[in-house]
Amino acid sequence: MANPIHDFTAKLRQPAVLPGVLDYVRWRRSVEAARKAGRPAPDAPAMAPVSINLDLTTACNYRCDHCIDWDILNTANKHDEAVLRASIENMAAKGLRSVILIGGGEPTVYPGFTPFVKFLKDLRLQVAVVSNGSGNRKILEIAPWLDEHDWVRLSLDAGTNDTFIRMHKPVDKSVSLEGICEWVPKVKAVNPRFKYGFSFIIVWRGAEREQDVKIVENIHEIVGATRLARDHGFDYISLKPFLVRSSTGSEVMDPEKAEAELQSVIQRIRREIDEAKTLGTDTFKVLESTNLRMLEQGNWRDFTNQPQTCHMQALRQVLTPTGLYNCPAYRGVDRARIAAKDAYGDAARFAGTGRGLATILDGFDASKECREVTCLYNDVNWWLEGLVKGDSLLDDVAAGAERADYFL
Ligand code: SF4
Repeated sequence: MANPIHDFTAKLRQPAVLPGVLDYVRWRRSVEAARKAGRPAPDAPAMAPVSINLDLTTACNYRCDHCIDWDILNTANKHDEAVLRASIENMAAKGLRSVILIGGGEPTVYPGFTPFVKFLKDLRLQVAVVSNGSGNRKILEIAPWLDEHDWVRLSLDAGTNDTFIRMHKPVDKSVSLEGICEWVPKVKAVNPRFKYGFSFIIVWRGAEREQDVKIVENIHEIVGATRLARDHGFDYISLKPFLVRSSTGSEVMDPEKAEAELQSVIQRIRREIDEAKTLGTDTFKVLESTNLRMLEQGNWRDFTNQPQTCHMQALRQVLTPTGLYNCPAYRGVDRARIAAKDAYGDAARFAGTGRGLATILDGFDASKECREVTCLYNDVNWWLEGLVKGDSLLDDVAAGAERADYFL
């Protein structure tokens, strides 16, 4: 896979992470061996995922038409902060290396956002924030604690304020695209070390969430958004295609839905991106998502062939106010739930969470459940499957280069 941030095998081979990955593989090998011998399967080791998506809140102050988490927003579910902090401490002691504060709500709306980020950094965890831009004042507050491995990405998706407002429908009418971007130089003045990104989800007619929900098309604003991002000091703009929820509850690209129009849509996107790329500089990158390249190259189907067991469920999980889930593509989906939100709340709960994990590793058949998902973890899952099913000496699995990037 070309984009290094999506080379998850290389990330799992880093010396700081590989020993925990191999412990997982040993456990799964011992489960397979016990089954063959007709013995009870051994319990999961007391392990934590390497990386989590953490939904701090379900509350959101926007009403975006294209939101993938529409059904779980603004519910009454909440974390108990003391339990959440204990969970993170316990996980950090068992191998957690990074936390992405993200979706299912707007993280900066969480009342204790600023001290919580300080808490994470005091535990020496890598931290990323995916925000809708409305909470840049809080990004300014956390900026001093972030380092060169951390990042903040704003989901803005527009090059003009009119499109931004029509797409995102902020509850506070004083919010504007320019106003959001104007915070970036202020935050950079406090700390220029971490990466500040402008995320642009490309939406086109025919890519509706539901039939009766109108989508605001934004292909024609790719160049304008790129100029806006560059001129306000963002480090990059990332361009990615819109995802929808499939009938099985997963987040998917749905290119077949509009096959007749798809080629002309792709050509329009390509023309805009080629022009946007001329705006790149040494300090400002124009990034195309791996999904977008797959759509263009027509090879997205290659990434829908998953092994039966998704091993990434053990190494990257989603902790939300409604529970612990196996994958960001299934946040809030019942059959993808590993355990309750206090799954790592104290040492005693690790055993139950291990049983939940074992159940989902066996029972969630990714080759069927994820057959519509263009999964970026496809390569790494097959690598792990090869290790679990193989008989090579695990001590011989060579560590790769240390990149100090533990986001999965
Ligand atoms: S196979 Fe991919 S989409 Fe399916 S659960 Fe695993 S990581 Fe998620």
